Amino acid sequence: MIRFYVAHQRFDAYLLADRLNQAGIKAHVFNEHASSIVGDVPPDVAQPQVWLAREQDCERATILLRTMEADAARGGSVRCTHCSEESPANFDLCWNCGALL
Ligand SMILES: [Zn+2]
Repeated sequence: MIRFYVAHQRFDAYLLADRLNQAGIKAHVFNEHASSIVGDVPPDVAQPQVWLAREQDCERATILLRTMEADAARGGSVRCTHCSEESPANFDLCWNCGALL
């Protein structure tokens, strides 16, 4: 296992892990509920993290991450009409409830 990415938002971590898994790169999200302890421990320990199962996937995962960041930079966010959570504008489905955006 190798730590690949420290996210600021839980949905960032999940989106990345989903895309990685879709690309055949085994990825896991850790610390999804840990942000409440920010302040007691270094932030990079408390924030949601994406870990790769195989270190050799790191290069492909980095390319995918850069692509996602470029997409997101074009974006902004959209609010779900079902649950009112914000999702990045490049999402097709709400990250929270799965409704079509
Ligand atoms: Zn929703």
